[in-house]
Amino acid sequence: MTTATVYLIGAGPGDPGLLTVRAKELIETCDVVVYDYLANKEFLKYARKDAEIIYVGKKGGDHTLPQDKINELIVELAKSGKSVARLKGGDPYVFGRGGEEAEELVEAGVPFEVVPGVTAGVAAPAYAGIPVTHRDHTTSVCFITGHEDPTKEESGHNWDVYAKSTSTLVFYMGVKNLPMISERLIEGGRDPQTPVALVRWGTRAEQQSFVSTLAEVAAEAERRKFAAPSIIVVGGVCGLHDKLAWFEKRPLLGKGVVVTRAREQASGLVRTLSDLGAHVYEFPTITIEPLDSYEELETAILRLPMQDWVVFTSVNGVKFFWDKLGEIGLDSRIFGGIQIAAIGPATADALRERGIKPDFIPEKYVAEHVVAGLLERGIVGKNVLIPRAKVAREVLPEQLAEAGAHVQVLPVYETKLAQEDGAEIMDALTKDKLDYVTFTSSSTVDNFFELVDADALKDYKAANPGKARLACIGPVTAKTLEKHGLRPDLQPEDYTIPALVEALLKAE
Ligand code: SAH
Repeated sequence: MTTATVYLIGAGPGDPGLLTVRAKELIETCDVVVYDYLANKEFLKYARKDAEIIYVGKKGGDHTLPQDKINELIVELAKSGKSVARLKGGDPYVFGRGGEEAEELVEAGVPFEVVPGVTAGVAAPAYAGIPVTHRDHTTSVCFITGHEDPTKEESGHNWDVYAKSTSTLVFYMGVKNLPMISERLIEGGRDPQTPVALVRWGTRAEQQSFVSTLAEVAAEAERRKFAAPSIIVVGGVCGLHDKLAWFEKRPLLGKGVVVTRAREQASGLVRTLSDLGAHVYEFPTITIEPLDSYEELETAILRLPMQDWVVFTSVNGVKFFWDKLGEIGLDSRIFGGIQIAAIGPATADALRERGIKPDFIPEKYVAEHVVAGLLERGIVGKNVLIPRAKVAREVLPEQLAEAGAHVQVLPVYETKLAQEDGAEIMDALTKDKLDYVTFTSSSTVDNFFELVDADALKDYKAANPGKARLACIGPVTAKTLEKHGLRPDLQPEDYTIPALVEALLKAE
């Protein structure tokens, strides 16, 4: 068996956007992913479906696996021929014991590579408006552990040097020792009025920070109940915090928002909410699946020239239709002189991406408005094809048919109940972490309550006004919610995702 490579990978400080391109590439390809407490769990979604995922813990003193066992584990895995992505928070060589792991690997004859990461000591201050160097304040920066190896007999710190230097001092793992750290620095001669900043859970939606002085910071941290993981920054640069802070100004900072859309459709909404500072709980309640048989679609494609109108009701409808078109060697030209309608702006975009300019996009994005608009465009007596999900509301085809159109409904995909664990959402709910639950279609509502108990949610909401507010994209989704005994707290005027996000922002 040839020994595989171990990659010691920096996973960055928490914001998923701060993972390097190389790190992502390796997570996607390795046989095993070994990660610890500070490495964002979210990256596991990049791992291969068949990859082995191993959590090795490490939080303060409570090591899930002691370091020597971790070393043994990665050596063993590599020797059994499995490539290992060893994910560590921040940078693997900055207080990450990456150096020790690398030494072990060399001694065991295991090939390894290092992928540096964005270290918390730089990133957390940056997200709190503190550049670690600045020409007006300091010419150097010092990374210091605030928690020395407890088995060491003599301290490796030279507190006098730290105290007398003009360096920005950045302490990792120092919150517990903050009283000692500030005392030593003052004793050594640093001005007690020197600004000190603490940044907790830097770069994550949970980020909190404050600035105090060397004299007062320990008491202030205690008062605010600051705990690990926090970065402590000492020096004049902390004075820039108020002026340069940006991240904590995000309007939805720290708000817990549940996204119930199918994973394939959720990325835009998830990104927008995250960029606004929200902590997004991805809880896909539906999965979008291809049909077992595409005979009907193939026949419909061949008969397309007989249609007058094709009405697309979702991005997925467009996607599956074109996928099939491509498979049988055809393309958008088959639509020739046929008129095309898109039920909403996202569907319209999906069509434009395929070279089709929709002839009609209603002003409001529900079936009823499509019907009205199409009637105006003389649809009576015309052949109308509606590619859509296998099970969907009948309003659009029924009303068009009633109005006198010849309607053919064409299933091109189906939605199924996702196998998500509702317990995770209930857990976040009972820990008061959920501020909003977003519903973007009736099926997200119905499926959500297959996975989460509606009565429990109702009771929680009654006891915690303002928490777990339910946001529905439109009136149809709202009605479905009412069927489950709950009312929407928020509903945008326009039935689109951007409008839904706007409604959340307005509610803040
Ligand atoms: N290798 C990591 C550091 C690991 S030591 C890196 O390069 O960032 C663990 C310490 O890092 C924590 O006690 C805390 O001081 C700091 N830390 C890690 N992530 C952090 C974050 N998101 N916000 C604030 N501090 C963090």
